[in-house]
Amino acid sequence: MALVPFDDRDGWIWLDGAFVPWRDAKIHILSHAVHYGSAVFEGERMYNGRIFALEEHTERLINSAALLDFTIPFDGDAINAASIATCVKNGFTDCYVRPIAWRGAEQLSVSARETKIHLAIAVWDWPKYFDEEKFARGIRLCWAKYRRPPANSAPTAAKAVGLYMICTVSKNAAERDGYEDALMLDTEGNIAETTGANIFFIRDGVLHTPIADRFLDGITRRTIIAMARARGLEVIDRRISPLELDTFSECFVVGTAAEVTPVGEIAEHRFTPGPITFGLADGYAALVRGEPPAKAHQTIRTVTVSA
Ligand code: PMP
Repeated sequence: MALVPFDDRDGWIWLDGAFVPWRDAKIHILSHAVHYGSAVFEGERMYNGRIFALEEHTERLINSAALLDFTIPFDGDAINAASIATCVKNGFTDCYVRPIAWRGAEQLSVSARETKIHLAIAVWDWPKYFDEEKFARGIRLCWAKYRRPPANSAPTAAKAVGLYMICTVSKNAAERDGYEDALMLDTEGNIAETTGANIFFIRDGVLHTPIADRFLDGITRRTIIAMARARGLEVIDRRISPLELDTFSECFVVGTAAEVTPVGEIAEHRFTPGPITFGLADGYAALVRGEPPAKAHQTIRTVTVSA
């Protein structure tokens, strides 16, 4: 399938308060964000005309900017309204939503306090990669080349573009080697997350997930923890060593893009997706679509795990 470049599409992008034709939503090459990584973003999805957890995503966007020492010149209500308006303007009821805020070109040095802050929101159709077979057996992960930086070395709670540099390198290598994604450790050698999703393990009916104090505390992660507990399942968030991998029977990753995606392999370790994973996947699919859980198994699932 030929790739449609992201700068050459039809539609409208919301840029600093107004809609501009898709191809005209440009920035100057000397923008601070391009050189120094001073940008934060979100990844959201609209299902059946509603952006799932919109307020939480917008709140995280504003907080990510604060962690990078800048203030987005629109408040949460304005960003929420603009996000929905961008979906409507482009005629979508189901799509991916990408707000991004960045420092402009007024200063091009490490110091950046005089730069203007911009905000854009783009939306696009989410590719429907229907692959029930891969979903059923689980995706394959390898170990990432890089580890997540510790919280005293980077603003790890921010969804900041700079933190994705090591993710892209790791994910590219994984794909070249025939895996779907790479699993990253923290600097102490505990399991952290994949390059664009949080991870859960199951042992004897209990869910285990790494504490999100050194990598992105995903909104899907929080949703799944709440859903599992509401179903009477025990969820323990703790440090998880790679040495424990063979003691887990199931594994899955979660994220706005990944939704709930079963994992079948992590390097030499094998997992068999089972009823708890599939039950949570169906429950999540129903929740985001505002449907009763029983209908969820009819929906198309994505196995693309991206940020
Ligand atoms: N970790 C990383 C590195 C991510 O890019 C994402 C996707 N935004 C997640 C975790 C999951 O976050 P969320 O559930 O909020 O999409």
